[in-house]
Amino acid sequence: MKGSLEAVGLARKIATEKNLPVIGVMTQHASAQAKEIAQQLPLQKLVYFTDGEKYSLYRHGAAIVKIAKQHENPIVIIASTVRGRELGAFVTSEMQGGYMADIVDLKIENGELFFTRAVYGNKILIDFKLTTPVKIITTRVGNFSVTEEKGTPEVSELTIGDQPLDEKQKLIEVVKAEGKVVDLTEAERIVSGGNGLKGPENWHLILDLAEVLDAATGASRAATDAGWRPHSEQVGQTGKYVSPKLYIAIGISGAIQHVAGIMNSDVIVAINKDPEAPIFNVADYGIVADLFEAVPLLIEELKKYKANQ
Ligand code: FAD
Repeated sequence: MKGSLEAVGLARKIATEKNLPVIGVMTQHASAQAKEIAQQLPLQKLVYFTDGEKYSLYRHGAAIVKIAKQHENPIVIIASTVRGRELGAFVTSEMQGGYMADIVDLKIENGELFFTRAVYGNKILIDFKLTTPVKIITTRVGNFSVTEEKGTPEVSELTIGDQPLDEKQKLIEVVKAEGKVVDLTEAERIVSGGNGLKGPENWHLILDLAEVLDAATGASRAATDAGWRPHSEQVGQTGKYVSPKLYIAIGISGAIQHVAGIMNSDVIVAINKDPEAPIFNVADYGIVADLFEAVPLLIEELKKYKANQ
């Protein structure tokens, strides 16, 4: 939801500058709460998709194309989630537009739009211009402001149907994650662990600290590759880009690919026994200590603090 609200914020920015209407599109999978929020967004129109039990790139993509084609030179903005990225590519090919994936910023100069992409683990930012009349953009979650404006969009429904189109991909299986599932890209607090934990048998330290802080849990790629944690928890360049208020990295060295995913955190805390670990270059607070001593102490102190509140 956060990514979609950011996409609306960006759409409003462009629409205000170019005097364009903003049309929101919602799939039938949206929760009642999401629908309620959407009905108060600063949109001219809000279109709900109906039918279609399951998400399908081809059906949903075709429905977005149908709406976009009703407008001259549309700019289609989609949050850069796994589905958002494939929908972006689909809409681009169907509409013969220009595609700018995973942008992190937008500049408007003399009415022209410049889209910023981050490359080499966020070390270099490049501005691009799309020269095509139809533009499709996906926005990296956590990089744009959620719109503060309110509105009363005209709501309509679009029946997308259940018939499979020329499906070129097949969903084999949906595996539900066990336990409390928090979307890392939306979490306000994240406790992440890495190779320094030595094995999954010690992960209770991460889980216990996360519980006392009411935080989501993340992991470095070393931990997910080793099978200690599910891939859905991986933070970084090939995992999730996160933007919490608080990110705690425990036993994580701070490799460039991990750091790329955490740079939009408000406060980064690192616990590492190596004072030279690169994670300390990006941390706001650093604790040089053996995590097996520091984390239990931290949990104990936080519990005492909470009990006294
Ligand atoms: P290590 O580098 O092994 O670091 C472990 C740290 O724990 C060390 O700093 C050590 O000092 C500390 N430590 C050990 N014992 C203790 C203790 N008792 N107490 C305190 N500290 C201790 N990585 C990601 O995380 N996310 C990505 O998305 C990602 N994408 C990648 C994409 C590519 C193309 C490539 C090539 C690599 C990618 N990587 C990614 C891997 C990345 O380069 C690192 O290998 C990985 O992040 C290392 O994980 P780590 O910090 O947990 O492990």
